[in-house]
Amino acid sequence: MKIAFIGLGNMGGGMAANLVKAGHDVNAFDLSEDALAAAKSNGCATFTDAGEAVHGVDGVVTMLPNGAIVKSVYTDSVIGRAPEGAVLLDCSTIDVATARETIAAAEAAGYAMVDAPVSGGIAAANGGTLTFMVGGSETAFDRAKPVLEAMGKAVIHAGDAGAGQTAKICNNMLLAITMIGTSEAMKMAEKLGLDPQKFYEISSQSTGYNWPLNDYTPLPGVGKESPADRDYQGGFATALMLKDLRLAMDAAETADAAVPLGSRAASLYEDFAGAGNGGLDFSAIIKTYR
Ligand code: NAD
Repeated sequence: MKIAFIGLGNMGGGMAANLVKAGHDVNAFDLSEDALAAAKSNGCATFTDAGEAVHGVDGVVTMLPNGAIVKSVYTDSVIGRAPEGAVLLDCSTIDVATARETIAAAEAAGYAMVDAPVSGGIAAANGGTLTFMVGGSETAFDRAKPVLEAMGKAVIHAGDAGAGQTAKICNNMLLAITMIGTSEAMKMAEKLGLDPQKFYEISSQSTGYNWPLNDYTPLPGVGKESPADRDYQGGFATALMLKDLRLAMDAAETADAAVPLGSRAASLYEDFAGAGNGGLDFSAIIKTYR
């Protein structure tokens, strides 16, 4: 297929390179010259105008920072510029309402479109092992699936338009809550004189087991290797977790959903990021318990 890829940052750069490796022709567009140069070295054709990049393509993939940018890129440069009938895939993490609006506008103009946010960070984007949670019609999902399979290890149809974003923000709200709960329990065990390694051994095989404890332990030297063992460098940045928690809180308000733990997690991450820790892995929140 001939695919336009818009937004070649930390995530999009590797994803576009994997589309090239899978045999697709990729037209790359980004506002950053450095990102375009990297895309060129990975085998993409580069463009300085998004509308030209989508000319004559079979599909468009976007991986952009937020909903306002996604909306403007689709409104100004994709809808009405890409050939009618092209499949459109927005892989950015954005608010549910903008995802739904953008898909409705694309469908009204004759396109098939999905929201397809990802689980997995930069390493998974580079390695082609992302998990995609996809919202959209059956037809749009079927057309998007082969494109997504070239960039990921799992492609799951979550439901109608916006369902991918809903799955993503609910998952990450749960992740924040379990990370904070794990941090709190580990530090309390330590303060009560229990060796954290023993706590890990016991709780990871008991009813307290959960992903941050078992696979991403926030204390250095305990459990499997994780960002804690690298001074909280790499991994999933606190600033990105905060972005997802803010989206979750907005969505909860819109849906009138009760999220007492989610809102507490959001405010703890708000304080932690505000204290200059936005670049650290989100497991570094355990430092606030020291
Ligand atoms: P990034 O800032 O590294 O990349 C975004 C890219 O979009 C940049 O290269 C920027 O120049 C480009 N861009 C911005 N406005 C543009 C426009 N109008 N037209 C064309 N290009 C434009 O961000 P990222 O880390 O790659 O994240 C991208 C998306 O993926 C975000 O929605 C993020 O929440 C989501 N995400 C990121 C991670 C991660 O670990 N980094 C994990 C999961 C999901």
